[in-house]
Amino acid sequence: MGKPKRKVSKAENPFENSLKQLEAAQKIAKIEPSVYEILRTPQRILDVKIPVKLDSGKTKVFTGYRVQYSDARGPCKGGIRYHPSVSLDEVKALSSWMTWKCATVDLPYGGAKGGVICNPKAMSKTELERLSRGYMRAIARFIGPDIDIPAPDVYTTGEIMLWMVDEYSKIVGHYEPAVITGKPPDKGGSEGREEATGYGGAFIVREVVNHLNLNPKETTVAIQGFGNVGSNVAEALFNMGFKIVGLSDSTGGVYAKDGLDTTKIIPCKEEVGGTVLSCAHLGMMARAMHLDKVSNEQLLELPVDILIPAALENVITGKNAQKIKAKVIVELANGPTTPEADKILHKKGVFLVPDILANSGGVIGSYFEWIQNKKNEHWKKDDVLNRVDEILAKSFDAVLKTSQEHKVDMRTAALVLAMRRVADAIKKRGY
Ligand code: GLU
Repeated sequence: MGKPKRKVSKAENPFENSLKQLEAAQKIAKIEPSVYEILRTPQRILDVKIPVKLDSGKTKVFTGYRVQYSDARGPCKGGIRYHPSVSLDEVKALSSWMTWKCATVDLPYGGAKGGVICNPKAMSKTELERLSRGYMRAIARFIGPDIDIPAPDVYTTGEIMLWMVDEYSKIVGHYEPAVITGKPPDKGGSEGREEATGYGGAFIVREVVNHLNLNPKETTVAIQGFGNVGSNVAEALFNMGFKIVGLSDSTGGVYAKDGLDTTKIIPCKEEVGGTVLSCAHLGMMARAMHLDKVSNEQLLELPVDILIPAALENVITGKNAQKIKAKVIVELANGPTTPEADKILHKKGVFLVPDILANSGGVIGSYFEWIQNKKNEHWKKDDVLNRVDEILAKSFDAVLKTSQEHKVDMRTAALVLAMRRVADAIKKRGY
């Protein structure tokens, strides 16, 4: 008998949560019922089995998913996640959020997501390569540069994307870099793509502080998660003059009320493979500075102005929302806040920028990579990030206006905009 599966309660089921978010937005969007029914339903679900020969000589069969939620506005788009807790409901939710994300920032894409149940931290590089090529073989005939374009997500990298491009290219018989974004910049990827989600998050924080009239130098920030997204937003915000007082990764975190120089912590984490806990002292800005150890749960409740969840979903729930002290939350993870928590935070007057707007810098960067691949061009990093900034600033304004017009929170406003755009495409194309 295998290990008993942890039961996921309804409140934790990310797909149920994504549907609840849609329901709240539908009250304002008022999409006609037959089209709304389409908006609530993923278009295509792939469940694939991937046999992989492990280094030990044994074969293990992994399970992977690809959910193509909607192609109404263009090819499906969205990352591939490698994580032990991947589930079909999670991938369905993530594919729905990709659909609303691409529509919120008006990219010519639909939404999709992939996931493989595995623990990449416990696998060798060669095992990971075999798994990635196997997953690509399993989904290859359902994707393509004008059908569905994958990208990195939690625990997947540019190197993994390149193996997948290579496998896909062998199957179709020619090199096809535009089938996947998030490749290394010197191998068909775009400059700035890797930084785009975190930097995009920082551009959104800048829009929020302008809107609320805050002074960056007096504004404290805590960031949960120190992977690609967390470390890049930490770097960008530090360089913009914000006071980063809380940081964490999956092993725990620190609180330093005088502020940390995050640019000194990042190389230690990246090059030495350290953790936030083992590297944080390098970011101390004065010798007498004090660092407190905090858990990931405590980090969310720190006395800060801005809280940035940049790890996994369902971390802000009905249980801890009341205890959150931040006045602003910028969601760089996908789905970090449950609908129950959303209600509590809204009542408390917290200004929350939802994932589908706040973390869209990544997919905007992907869009620019895809264009460069199609045109055989290579743009400069500043050009890419400036274009990401332009789209984000415009989208932030549009969502803010919608939220003020209908007196709803920013998540509902973004969804209203996005659902109307997708519904319009469905109606005009004549599904
Ligand atoms: N995985 C990222 C996200 O959740 C990026 C997706 C993409 O670039 O297609 O937005």
